[in-house]
Amino acid sequence: MLDVIKKLKNIFIILFLIIILSTYILLSFLYLRGPIITLKGKLEKTINVNDYYKEEGYKAKYIYYDLTNEIIVNNNINSNKLGDYNVYYKIKYNNKEYTQKRLIHIKDIEKPIITLNENSSACPNKEFVETGYEVSDNYDSDLKDKVIVEKNKNEWIYTVSDSSGNKAKKIRKIIYEDNIKPKITLNSPNYNIYINSTYTDPGYSVSDNCSDDLKNKVKITGTVDTKKLGKYIITYEVTDESGNKTKETRTVNVVNRPIFVSKAIYLTFDDGPSANITPKILDILKEEGAHATFFINDHGRNLDYIIKRAVDEGHTVASHTLSHNFYSVYASENAFFKEIDGVHNIIYNASGKRNKIFRFPGGSSNTISRFNPKIMTRLVKMADSNGYLFYDWTIDSNDAGGSNTKESIYNNVTKYMGYQSLNIVLMHDSANKYATLNALRDIIRYGKQNGFTFLPITETTPQSRHHINN
Ligand SMILES: [Zn+2]
Repeated sequence: MLDVIKKLKNIFIILFLIIILSTYILLSFLYLRGPIITLKGKLEKTINVNDYYKEEGYKAKYIYYDLTNEIIVNNNINSNKLGDYNVYYKIKYNNKEYTQKRLIHIKDIEKPIITLNENSSACPNKEFVETGYEVSDNYDSDLKDKVIVEKNKNEWIYTVSDSSGNKAKKIRKIIYEDNIKPKITLNSPNYNIYINSTYTDPGYSVSDNCSDDLKNKVKITGTVDTKKLGKYIITYEVTDESGNKTKETRTVNVVNRPIFVSKAIYLTFDDGPSANITPKILDILKEEGAHATFFINDHGRNLDYIIKRAVDEGHTVASHTLSHNFYSVYASENAFFKEIDGVHNIIYNASGKRNKIFRFPGGSSNTISRFNPKIMTRLVKMADSNGYLFYDWTIDSNDAGGSNTKESIYNNVTKYMGYQSLNIVLMHDSANKYATLNALRDIIRYGKQNGFTFLPITETTPQSRHHINN
């Protein structure tokens, strides 16, 4: 029994020694090893160039003491530059330094980007011509020169590698098509020629995106009868190799050749007719054997008999617009010619005669129309291309501008009469123009005594045109 107790005692002593010894070994191991630095995440990482390096975390422990706050972290990472970099985590303990590190590779892992100009179409009969491309890259510049283009019939293949070997590829599908019409450009699309002259085509050119020699393929139809006044349409048509067809038309106006008559005076009366003044003017003209021109507005059908009388007695009655209201007359091209034609219709209905003669309210030089910029320029062009004839004045009696005595009107008119000039005299026959009426006979007599004749404006009278100011 004592023996057993003695044995047990020895076993306990041995066990005790073993425990003491292993505790000693363990403690000295821990002491010699020092604190342990642990990093979160991988110890080796690759980061794309220019990307931001982000610390994933770390901690330090010595036995069960947390020493994380004492870790000093430093690195020399330049994320704009390719290379290998270390991040160091250091801690000092018992005058000894303990270190951990993380290896960071800064690499270019991104492909360049090739961007093609969207236009990939080519003429069916031609080769595709480069419309442009660009290359951008996260790291390399000037990759555009390094692009290799493989040119096949239906697709072009663009490839490029950056300095780190990242490859990019882009395919352009080439579309062979032509949807664009040829373009015919006419010289003088509105062309005026004099009656009894010879018409020759003023010329044209043709351009097309795909076909080169279309000019000879233009088909011209239509004829001009230069023996007859009027408007003629000549049509030019052409079709390109892909079947795109285009058409242009030229308007040719056969017009009267203006005839200058020397020693002629063209008296013109605007803004009538009026029931009190116009018939008396007609009386004087008749008595003196003179003729004149009336540019009228619409003053109602009850004055149509005056229009008829004037025409019957050999005068010209022409248009001065229906309303004479600048804001409606010059509101648009459409409004203007509606007003002009409206009066021509009134004249035709009253007298059975029609002409295309008119006078612009305010003259073609007026500036009141500037509320509609360039309207006068457009109207003059349209009048010319549609066979209208407008007449501005060369002598202003000033009977609408402040001269309200018979003497001043007489002087204003007679002063400027010239044998070799185009004498177109502006006067008015509205209801209050008594001074004009009273000056008329003396003006005509002065003219006759000096060898002038008083003629109505006709379609062969040369036009007098003011400078266009709008
Ligand atoms: Zn007027």
